[in-house]
Amino acid sequence: MTDRYAVIGNPIAHSKSPAIHAAFARQTGQDIHYQALLAPQDKFIDTVHQFQTDGGKGMNVTVPFKEDAWRLATQLTKRAQLAKAVNTLQFGIHDILGDNTDGAGLVRDLQDRLGFSLSGKTILLMGAGGAARGVLQPLLAQHPARLTLVNRTLARAEVLKHQFIAHGEIITCDYNALTDSYQLVINATASSLHGELPPLPETLFAPGALAYDMMYAKVPTPFLHFATTHGASHIADGVGMLVEQAAESFALWRGIRPDTAPVIKLLKSC
Ligand code: NDP
Repeated sequence: MTDRYAVIGNPIAHSKSPAIHAAFARQTGQDIHYQALLAPQDKFIDTVHQFQTDGGKGMNVTVPFKEDAWRLATQLTKRAQLAKAVNTLQFGIHDILGDNTDGAGLVRDLQDRLGFSLSGKTILLMGAGGAARGVLQPLLAQHPARLTLVNRTLARAEVLKHQFIAHGEIITCDYNALTDSYQLVINATASSLHGELPPLPETLFAPGALAYDMMYAKVPTPFLHFATTHGASHIADGVGMLVEQAAESFALWRGIRPDTAPVIKLLKSC
């Protein structure tokens, strides 16, 4: 019987996850059906339980439900515990396992696909929302020389600094205090979603720097446009991260890791 999976969010129509998982299933010969599921803002738990009752095996979770999924899971992987956010659910007979594959997806995209080794590098992470929380520990685990966390609301960055203190040093600041240059600048804010750009200094990018925007779009985001015109040597959007985090979920569910390169190529061509 075909196993059912879904991505749940609100809104969800734009999601590329069904196309990604369909490509993974074709490639690996797995018999699965994967759909996009819109949950009303106040009906996340009901929608998950209904999908589970109907025979669903697992779900990806996206905005705005990652924290609800973290609370719903009855078991958490270590990385989901740390992130306090869940983007992958796996349904057992008596339990719901929650995982967070965002950080692993980002690190894999940076190091394996883009060939950017994180060890010994100076990193600026912009944003202190769910996406930043999911990637902090996986970034620190690669032993960067320095990790700075900048956020519009400084207090939110401070909370993350204290939450992750056992995993490495995090320097926090607001945009006015940004004076250094960095070898890697990651935009984990929602600014690009609104066509906005945080106030960044012209000296932000060190020689050879990579600018990475977690958001993806057909045209370069305001952040990637700024990077191109202010000295970044390389730019990348979040398509690679999206496909890599999906592959990590697929591997958890199906016990087989798909080849991500052709799927990233496919998404970039549509
Ligand atoms: P949240 O809503 O949890 O966090 C938003 C963050 O963006 C906050 O730190 C907020 O600052 C900041 N922000 C919003 N607007 C601006 C602005 N104009 N200037 C400066 N800072 C701003 O969102 P998420 O963390 O869940 O998502 C962030 C981004 O990451 C989204 O674009 C999302 O699509 C992307 N993403 C991509 C993934 C991928 O696989 N490629 C996976 C997960 C996320 P403040 O605290 O001051 O409000």
